[in-house]
Amino acid sequence: MRVAVYPGSFDPVTRGHLDIIKRAARIHEKLIVVVMKNSAKKPLFTVEERVELLRGCCEGIPNVCIDSYDGLTVNYCRMKHATLLVRGLRAVSDFENEIQIAQTNHALMPGIETMFLATGMRWSYLSSTIVKEAARYGSDVSKFVTPNVEAALHEKFKAQEE
Ligand code: ADP
Repeated sequence: MRVAVYPGSFDPVTRGHLDIIKRAARIHEKLIVVVMKNSAKKPLFTVEERVELLRGCCEGIPNVCIDSYDGLTVNYCRMKHATLLVRGLRAVSDFENEIQIAQTNHALMPGIETMFLATGMRWSYLSSTIVKEAARYGSDVSKFVTPNVEAALHEKFKAQEE
């Protein structure tokens, strides 16, 4: 079975990520969405919370499973015998960073290929950062995230206020 891995911070998962997950799941036999512990970013949600939110969003997709990993993406792929990495490209601004990551991963492990999916037009402006900013000031973010994520965002910011 060909296994594909979609790594990211998913802090939190947005409808843009979900669009990529659903489309990638149609192409690949098995898709693992993996929450990576990125040491360069200070996340709002813990890894466990992000995994739970992703699980809530992906319940209905049978060939998708959710995991987390603290380490290099290529090492995770090797462990899972995965040969394909999935990433989403929103705009030209994503390209420079994404090509660098893809080429580094390929240099580290030549057996691994990165496949880019172009973001759906509806979600090209959307990022986890923008969603967090909007939710922090009490905006309705239901257009951008699923109800479980919206509830978790409001709860998180309410707890931070107390
Ligand atoms: P990372 O910190 O690894 O960039 P993110 O969670 O921000 O993690 O993004 C994970 C992947 O999802 C990246 O390939 C990113 O380009 C893609 N992505 C982020 N937002 C969207 C969106 N709105 N539509 C499609 N893909 C997206």
